[in-house]
Amino acid sequence: MGNVSDMDQENFFDDSNVEVVDAETVEVTDAIEVESTAVKEVTSTSEDTSVSVNSGLGALNLDFSSLAATLPGVAVGETGLTVSRFPVERIKFSKGQRALISILSDQVIVAKTHYDEEHGSFLCFGGACCDSDLARVRYVFPIIKYTTDTKGRPIVNRDENGKAIHPAFDVTNMCLSIGQDTYDTLIATKDLKGSLTQFDFLVSCSDEQYQKISLQEAGDARYKKDKTIVGSVTDFWNKNYKNILKSVARKITPQEYEAGKAADLNASTEVDFEDVFGES
Ligand SMILES: [Zn+2]
Repeated sequence: MGNVSDMDQENFFDDSNVEVVDAETVEVTDAIEVESTAVKEVTSTSEDTSVSVNSGLGALNLDFSSLAATLPGVAVGETGLTVSRFPVERIKFSKGQRALISILSDQVIVAKTHYDEEHGSFLCFGGACCDSDLARVRYVFPIIKYTTDTKGRPIVNRDENGKAIHPAFDVTNMCLSIGQDTYDTLIATKDLKGSLTQFDFLVSCSDEQYQKISLQEAGDARYKKDKTIVGSVTDFWNKNYKNILKSVARKITPQEYEAGKAADLNASTEVDFEDVFGES
């Protein structure tokens, strides 16, 4: 626990087409006992395990929030809450809405992928998949996304008296999957600054379909000053590092590829136009 580089990476990186380069450690302090952020955002602190009625007759509104604490895989929140089916969701950017993110590793996970209708987006296995299609290269990073306003300014958590509290910001653990052009700009930043993990980045999106984005350095990484966030982020990635590619591309065997029926497309990956038509 504590240091992401201590984790057993062999299991995850046994794929011949997934590479990890430029090994450096993520500087995080030992994990504090904190719930994962995904659950924390939607559960209440109620310890009562029964359903409680919080209004009088005529305005019935049952409270099911304690359910989430007892059933893994269940979240309860105000209507409007959405949950990704992926353990680690891939970040998607919207035009006209800036996002603030922080990159959690100076390592990059490089995945070769293909796309076809039968299988969706899948990891290259270096065989028949390459006969009819040139693999695309995706560069994947673990990140957090801050909850912000549309200009990308983080929303500071405060108590009822307006005093700042911990966690100072709400963050969501996600993965960033980018193509060569955007990756080149990150390499330039790393060459200049020595590290990608010390900053927050403001992200603007000029084309949603192709997820064309630009990243701009936006000061020191804000979350690092909050031990509560650092603890929950560390805890999340200790549990989920093996899942980082699941929303980018699925793993299929040559047999499944030949059979052409491996895909339960309901359980497939998130694909955007760049995966299918973009530069490789
Ligand atoms: Zn291939």
